[in-house]
Amino acid sequence: MGAFKVLEKYDVTIIGGGPAGLFSSFYSGLRGLKTKIIECQSELGGKVLLYPEKMIWDVGGQPPILGEAFAKQIVAQGLTFEPTVCTNTKVELIQKDENNDFIITTNDGMKHYSKSIILAIGGGIIEPKRLDIAGAEKYEGKNLHYTVKSLKQFHNKTVLISGGGDAAIDCAVELLDIAKKVIIVYRKKECRAHEAQVDKLIKGNAKFIMNTTISSLVGNEDDTAIKQVVLKNILSGITQRVEIDQVIVQHGYNQDVSFNVAEDLTLEKKDDYFYKGDAFGCTTQEGIFAAGDILTYDGKINLLAGTFQDAVNAVNSVKNYLDPNAAKVAMVSSHNEAFEEKNKEMIATMLGS
Ligand SMILES: Cc1cc2nc3c(=O)[nH]c(=O)nc-3n(C[C@H](O)[C@H](O)[C@H](O)COP(=O)(O)OP(=O)(O)OC[C@H]3O[C@@H](n4cnc5c(N)ncnc54)[C@H](O)[C@@H]3O)c2cc1C
Repeated sequence: MGAFKVLEKYDVTIIGGGPAGLFSSFYSGLRGLKTKIIECQSELGGKVLLYPEKMIWDVGGQPPILGEAFAKQIVAQGLTFEPTVCTNTKVELIQKDENNDFIITTNDGMKHYSKSIILAIGGGIIEPKRLDIAGAEKYEGKNLHYTVKSLKQFHNKTVLISGGGDAAIDCAVELLDIAKKVIIVYRKKECRAHEAQVDKLIKGNAKFIMNTTISSLVGNEDDTAIKQVVLKNILSGITQRVEIDQVIVQHGYNQDVSFNVAEDLTLEKKDDYFYKGDAFGCTTQEGIFAAGDILTYDGKINLLAGTFQDAVNAVNSVKNYLDPNAAKVAMVSSHNEAFEEKNKEMIATMLGS
């Protein structure tokens, strides 16, 4: 294949390693399919990694759980049957070969070969919008944050939050009882967030600096962290310096939806991005199935719970696409021989042998 390394062919390649892709991977292992996951981020887990400190309550049978812990669990489950996993790899193009199998081209120039595909790409590649300030990146992972990974680091600190939407204001509310001082800086006259949340901040003595943006960051002596934030009032042009311990930027997200299927593989879309399909995970293209937020059909639920149902349906559809004589659905896990060995190991561990 020219300059490209020839890779082995998989029964199914799952594009996207979020909840839908990971549960698809688990289920395709259960159905005995040779599976590969391709994920463009460095970590599996999908959008849940954007809200690691938020509590998730609405997954059936799962007690309330932090996003970070939930992501760990779903990753572990997705790897149960040891799929091949390619992280830091972005799918750029899907084409069909002369056997009606798929050639998937990724950003590193590699070609991946697969008999079927499950698209589980959520809302695309989502990255928090970063500060457009030269040198800001050197403070990331120190005291400049785009996602809140742990609330502990804000305990008793002066925290400046830039942004006035729901994410920024919810974050400020969460920090009210944790931080020493919460300062909200927003470029507009009024916050866009829910009024009730803004009221909590007012009652909690948070400081609002409106019509204002961050114009530069001043580092500490050895420039290992931000010491002061320079703010500029966009109406008057007046600047002020504010001493801070931590800065959180919540300016929304960039969504990269540049992923493509070849022209001869048109998939019908809704709203320019989401793929039209059905509750069985079928898209308008034979051999390409979909699960999770990317798929739309009547009755669709854009929740974690919905991704699981979608994943099971998509995998069962893949199985029947590859082998029309296969059972339409899998045996339940409690009676499924795919777990025989694993169950023995777990029982042995429980019995301490
Ligand atoms: C702030 C927030 C809070 C939420 N809270 C809840 C909640 O409490 N309960 C609930 O049920 N749901 C909640 N949700 C919704 C839930 O997170 C989503 O429904 C779920 O993550 C969808 O999973 P998914 O796998 O379809 O997509 P995603 O989680 O978006 O995963 C898609 C993956 O595909 C990858 N990808 C995209 N394009 C490519 C490409 N071209 N190549 C390779 N990889 C690619 C992305 O990097 C990503 O990892 C919340 C969502 C948000 C944003």
